[in-house]
Amino acid sequence: MSETYKHVWGDLARQYNFAGLLKTLVDGDEPSRLALIEKNPISLSYAFDVYCIDTLDEVKKQYAKAIEERHAGKDNKAELRECQHQLQEIKVIQKLTAHVSVANYMKEHPPARPAPQPAPAPARVGPRWHLCGVCGGVGRTRCSSCGGTGTHPRSASRTRYDGSIEYYTEQVPCYSCSGGRITCSRCGGSGQVLE
Ligand SMILES: [Zn+2]
Ligand SMILES: [Zn+2]
Repeated sequence: MSETYKHVWGDLARQYNFAGLLKTLVDGDEPSRLALIEKNPISLSYAFDVYCIDTLDEVKKQYAKAIEERHAGKDNKAELRECQHQLQEIKVIQKLTAHVSVANYMKEHPPARPAPQPAPAPARVGPRWHLCGVCGGVGRTRCSSCGGTGTHPRSASRTRYDGSIEYYTEQVPCYSCSGGRITCSRCGGSGQVLE
């Protein structure tokens, strides 16, 4: 039985004995069904309609289970036949109650459903990351030691063949970076930081 049914119409179903009403309708022939409906206009109510739909689902489940048990060797022909009978007759009753009209009886409107709750804000899954503002998401920044050149000038000298000394400047690789870039200290190289 659906949750909606139990919550909204459970009391009504007990008060008007929907189970008994449906059983009598299932077991009856067409004239007795019509007579019963005239006496019990509740059988034309939306609530009873939903009760029939729920019951149909229940019987379908029961039927599927009985078929499984039958395959497993259980002798349940009578149960299977009863399920088939109920499935067939409930459908007939649904058609009947949908089309019959009873004098002085107004078909009910379905009860108002509770107003839908505004959808909650989507739950945040874990911390939110965003692009590192220091390196712009690259993960590396310019080396301050070499100014981004990747090398340092170094003074050197060598002795010419004539014995004089030549002074010159050579470029040596920067000791604190590779190619003028160092790992970003803000994001650790990932390019992303936590909010
Ligand atoms: Zn960074
Ligand atoms: Zn450097």
